[in-house]
Amino acid sequence: MTVARILAEKGRSVVTVQPERTLDDAVHLLADKGIGALVVTDEAGSVVGMLSERDIMRALARQAAAAFDAPIASHMTANVTTCKRTTTIEEVMHLMTEGRFRHVPVCEEGKLIGLVSIGDVVKRRIAAVEAEHQAMRDYITMA
Ligand code: AMP
Repeated sequence: MTVARILAEKGRSVVTVQPERTLDDAVHLLADKGIGALVVTDEAGSVVGMLSERDIMRALARQAAAAFDAPIASHMTANVTTCKRTTTIEEVMHLMTEGRFRHVPVCEEGKLIGLVSIGDVVKRRIAAVEAEHQAMRDYITMA
């Protein structure tokens, strides 16, 4: 299964934020949307960073309440790993494990077209394993 299938099921909408907005804006956006990470994009819609709960925890540990007024750009991860529609779920799992992150933006021709989270990946893996088990059970009972 590829990322294209995940996007077809879950949709392409991604919550984004601009790098000049503050950490306070980001905290409210994360809370309002009930999500754990924001994709940071520039005016052209290109991905310029990721800001997750973990970055906010780190900023608070370093700067305490003063961090809330800081621009997102100063606390985001600027070197973002992205994937394509044709990337397989196994490849995304590998990227997440190696990079120790739980979100991978999907890009096409430099533009953001979706986001895959570890939850999306685990959901599909469990469904695939259950389907395999069912096929094995069917095979055994029919034999
Ligand atoms: P996460 O596990 O996704 O909440 O993020 C953990 C850390 O990895 C944070 O510092 C994020 O900014 C960073 N991060 C999240 N997603 C990515 C990504 N796709 N590429 C690079 N860094 C990321």
